[in-house]
Amino acid sequence: MGVSNERGLIVSWDDDVTVDERARATEAVAHAVAHGCVIGDRENVGGYAHAPVSCAPTVFPRRAYELARAVSPRFAELYDAVSRDDAFMRNALKGAIKNDAFTAALWRVYEESGGQAGRPRAEVGVLRSDYMLDAPSGLPLQVEVNTVSTSFMALATKVSAMHRHLARWSAKGGEAVDLSGVPENEALQCAGDILAAGWKAGGSKGKIMMVVQPHERNMFDQRHISQYIFEKYGVHTVRATLAEINAEGELRDETLTFQGDDIGLVYFRAGYTPTDYPTDGEWAARLMIEKSNALKSPSAAMHLAGSKKIQQKLAEPGVLETFMPEHAEEMRRVFAGLYSLDGEDAIKTVELALSNPAGFVLKPQREGGGNNLYSDELRARLEQGGDLSEYILMQRILPPAHQTLTVREGDVKKIETLSELGIYGSYLRVGDEVVINKHGGHLLRTKAASSDEGGVAAGYAVLDSPLLV
Ligand code: ADP
Ligand code: MG
Ligand code: MG
Repeated sequence: MGVSNERGLIVSWDDDVTVDERARATEAVAHAVAHGCVIGDRENVGGYAHAPVSCAPTVFPRRAYELARAVSPRFAELYDAVSRDDAFMRNALKGAIKNDAFTAALWRVYEESGGQAGRPRAEVGVLRSDYMLDAPSGLPLQVEVNTVSTSFMALATKVSAMHRHLARWSAKGGEAVDLSGVPENEALQCAGDILAAGWKAGGSKGKIMMVVQPHERNMFDQRHISQYIFEKYGVHTVRATLAEINAEGELRDETLTFQGDDIGLVYFRAGYTPTDYPTDGEWAARLMIEKSNALKSPSAAMHLAGSKKIQQKLAEPGVLETFMPEHAEEMRRVFAGLYSLDGEDAIKTVELALSNPAGFVLKPQREGGGNNLYSDELRARLEQGGDLSEYILMQRILPPAHQTLTVREGDVKKIETLSELGIYGSYLRVGDEVVINKHGGHLLRTKAASSDEGGVAAGYAVLDSPLLV
């Protein structure tokens, strides 16, 4: 391991990192910091650090990327349609509502705010549909669709720009470089544009409110979006935690106000996980937001529609087809095997999983990474028995491995990795009319092959971009 004398750029590297790779990593970090691909420092409160990144894009088949990109807007439409079908959601989620306190609490917010009748006319979606390349079939198989608090639109955009820069930078002779394999990434702009469009659809009222976690480290990813919105549209975004909203938010008639300002649109970058609700006060804030006439990205209904259980239910024969008769066939191409642990199906599903625990993932109704069970843990949970309806079982997708030069907190490592492609979507429905539904940029998250989960913030993964071949 060596030690750098370049302050603030790379700090250390493994023995197998070459001089050229060290120079590349240094250039990557310099570009990342200079262009705002930055997160809060893990150790020092008030400090900043470059985001964990790969120092070159990772190979991803163009055909799989194109299919994922083509099919993703259909999923935005699908999940919005599901969110508007009270009976379907009620039935699909009943086991999860019974056995999972978080799903139950979110369902209560939906009901107490008036269910479907209580929803504003418009739904504003910043979604991300995630895929892993299934090595045997060459197809991108969908891991999940995120309908709430999708992140990294800004940092992904910066990483794509950084990789394009590095491609030119490393052409030693100064020759022209073909960048068609490293697509430009407009995720930041798409997120800002759709939120602004939503704010306008809500009557151009007051400010946008971004609901954030206390002690957020990914604030630059979020603030890039609010700065973009302010610069392009002149709209202010106020940041608030659920606790702050509980203390300083109010409903005047049906208008949500915070610290005296009217709020036209609420954009959630928090509120997706039980730890975001340490007391009843946070749930009271969520309910107040939901009862208000502010548009929400997402509504509680759309948040619930993004549940793992709904994903599994849609995979059952004929179900997707009722929602998306014209597109179901194409959409099913990206479905991985999904199995119910509800009711009578549970016995068969448990048998299937125990016959090959390494071939499956056991998923509770959670978001944000780090919640799934694999192999031995999966076996242990299934053998323990009891009511398993808060879980679903999913085929384990096996993507091809790559060697990746990564840099995290200034430490350069070459590791064996697996990647997950995220396709962002911008979605706006007003009344029954889908006004905007389009591809909204992309993200590749690349994690150590040895890690089951792939959280960038959790420290398992780096931000990356696809090299289309
Ligand atoms: P979350 O909503 O918490 O992000 P995910 O379903 O995306 O839940 O699972 C988290 C991570 O676990 C994924 O990013 C991926 O790395 C891994 N994972 C999830 N499902 C599968 C699967 N079917 N096959 C392989 N890995 C998976
Ligand atoms: Mg998720
Ligand atoms: Mg995920």
